[in-house]
Amino acid sequence: MFTLFVRAKDIPQPDPVSPTRHLEDRKAAIYDNLRDLQFEYRVGKLSDADYQQTKLTLQRELAGILAEIDRMSASPAVKTPTPAPPAAGALCPSCGAKFPKPLKFCGECGKAMA
Ligand SMILES: [Zn+2]
Repeated sequence: MFTLFVRAKDIPQPDPVSPTRHLEDRKAAIYDNLRDLQFEYRVGKLSDADYQQTKLTLQRELAGILAEIDRMSASPAVKTPTPAPPAAGALCPSCGAKFPKPLKFCGECGKAMA
């Protein structure tokens, strides 16, 4: 029983916790590259054009990776519902007082809240 348990644990399995792990790694690598790039530009190793061009390329790749991570981690189960906008009339346009229910007149300043 014990042996079986250990053997089962030894079987290599894809990491179920973070399916975006390799993307996170690439993201970190690009951040490193951007840092290096900035440093080399600052010490004068790169021309302005080279710097801008490389930065743009890296940023474009980064955007693609971030979008991919978003897409992979977006699932209906974990998606937080967008908060409902405050009901009309619950916030006084004159003084900014908030009320749980829409009112015709503000309970704070007495002005019309329509
Ligand atoms: Zn008011």
